[in-house]
Amino acid sequence: MKITIQDIVDQAARATEIVSQVRGRMLAPNARKKSPMFNASQLAGLCEVDKNQITYRISKGDLPAGTVNATGSRREFSLAEVREWVRAYRLGFQRPARADAMTIAIGNFKGGVSKTTTAMTLAQGLSLRGHRVLVIDMDPQGSLTTLFGILPDTEVDEDSTITALATGDQSSIEYAIRKTYWDGIDLVPASSSLFNVEFILPSRQMKEPEFEFWNVLHRGLEAARAEYDVIIIDTPPALSYGTVNAFMAADGLIVPTPPNALDFASSAQFWTLFSDLASNLTVETNTEKSFEFIHVLLSRVDPADAAAGVVREWIAATYAAKVLPVEIPKTTVTASSSAEFGTVYDISRYEGSAKTYRRAREAYDRVNEIVEQSIIAFWAKSR
Ligand code: ADP
Ligand code: MG
Repeated sequence: MKITIQDIVDQAARATEIVSQVRGRMLAPNARKKSPMFNASQLAGLCEVDKNQITYRISKGDLPAGTVNATGSRREFSLAEVREWVRAYRLGFQRPARADAMTIAIGNFKGGVSKTTTAMTLAQGLSLRGHRVLVIDMDPQGSLTTLFGILPDTEVDEDSTITALATGDQSSIEYAIRKTYWDGIDLVPASSSLFNVEFILPSRQMKEPEFEFWNVLHRGLEAARAEYDVIIIDTPPALSYGTVNAFMAADGLIVPTPPNALDFASSAQFWTLFSDLASNLTVETNTEKSFEFIHVLLSRVDPADAAAGVVREWIAATYAAKVLPVEIPKTTVTASSSAEFGTVYDISRYEGSAKTYRRAREAYDRVNEIVEQSIIAFWAKSR
């Protein structure tokens, strides 16, 4: 029996229906994702102070006191409250008024290397450090958008993605920015309409010789750079027009790379393609492009994988100091929480072993801490 296009159409409808049912169940009763609550020890950890300091400061009454449960045994803080505390305690880490947001793109032309997970955990981690983050989903698949509890193809229309920047209907990104369930993170969502950008940009370039197809996002972000502390762009697994725009808009690049031979080979291809394209662009147009940092992040590292050691050596030999000194382990925490469309930071209480959770959480925290240091160094330059 042959499979007709109509069969595939029907199958697509069934898949979409199931995703939206799962989402409906997961986000019931109000069909919106919720951010976690924090106890006093977690708050103290984020403020980098002793728990007694929290109790003392509550008594002063100048910071949110959280909510005490019915029995009076537990005090809980919302994410928004936590961020207010963190900002009060981490004054030295804030963006100076004159500095722009740092724009960071997450890229690798290979799928499944944890680009989207990295974008989301970085955004969450930086917001927990008090920063205001804008995330931009440039992948037509919209995985990052989905992590925010928004379904790309039913809840995002074309007018609220970066497509209108590409057509020229809009020149500044604000029109596409929406609040999310996570205080401190705003989102420019994606939907499959972003595939059109791949036709719109080259065809505009043909018609308008002055047009710079690679600079559309860079220009569109100008106003947002004054508004946010950090802008994080998640890219598709391809050297698309969208990806080029993301890289050209970025001050820093994070390249997640799992330590296995195929992923390593594919990342070599990534650098060749990207450097060819970037050098052609900059030479032809007589422009300059540089990055403040490129961080190669060893991701999904499986401690049981014997071959990983060898590939890690190749990676160290190739990227040298660009390799971040932390690795993200392959973890069941990520696997189980992504089944619920979330990350380690979405989990208030992990049902599995505390040690497993801590190991994953500490790795992500450490990456975020290092990236924050790069961001602060970037801000310091513009003083
Ligand atoms: P990409 O954006 O590069 O395609 P994703 O971030 O979507 O990659 O990750 C691909 C898959 O791997 C997802 O199912 C994600 O939940 C899973 N994943 C990501 N990081 C880890 C990790 N550290 N351990 C286990 N699974 C992971
Ligand atoms: Mg992705």
